[in-house]
Amino acid sequence: MGMPGSGKGTQAERIAATYQIPHISTGAIFRSLAENKSPIGLEAKTYMDKGKLVPDGLVNKILWDRLGEPDTVKGFVLDGYPRTLPQAEALEAYLQSKGLSLDVALYLAVGKDVLRKRLEQRLTSPIPRVDDQSEVVERRLRVSEAEVDALLHFYQGLGVVSIVDGEKEPDIVFAKIQEALQFHS
Ligand code: AMP
Repeated sequence: MGMPGSGKGTQAERIAATYQIPHISTGAIFRSLAENKSPIGLEAKTYMDKGKLVPDGLVNKILWDRLGEPDTVKGFVLDGYPRTLPQAEALEAYLQSKGLSLDVALYLAVGKDVLRKRLEQRLTSPIPRVDDQSEVVERRLRVSEAEVDALLHFYQGLGVVSIVDGEKEPDIVFAKIQEALQFHS
């Protein structure tokens, strides 16, 4: 969990590579579906381009499809999901129905000024994202804040949260993440 620009994607990739499990990013799945002009992708894009969250029903559908693929049997790292309390509840119900449970819910803590700076830098990258434009960024930061609080509360209730300082260098953040994973597994 973390705000846009908190480093979720980068760290999720490192977790996936180190523990040899798939990295499942709902945002990346939607971007790829939109690129391929699939109806679900194009519908999701109308929300994403405005910095809004894609409706839970649509997100859950693509996630259950992805989690049904065979490469997830040894575990997986979710990036950008759940984003809302109903998604977290739906994920719990889904995992329980499969006899599974989350090992850890990582939260990358990063202050808003640092997030804005990082998202501005992302705009000048070779493949800028429409939803990194500044008005859209502000909305994404606003939308995310309330949701992240609710998610933290939910996962703290389950006793699986680890909060990591996401303002540090990526290597240091990853070392802290590994400590948290060892502690929770
Ligand atoms: P991300 O790549 O995680 O930053 O996600 C980019 C955009 O995809 C978000 O701003 C949302 O519009 C959409 N999105 C990705 N994951 C979710 C989710 N779990 N729930 C709702 N919308 C999502």
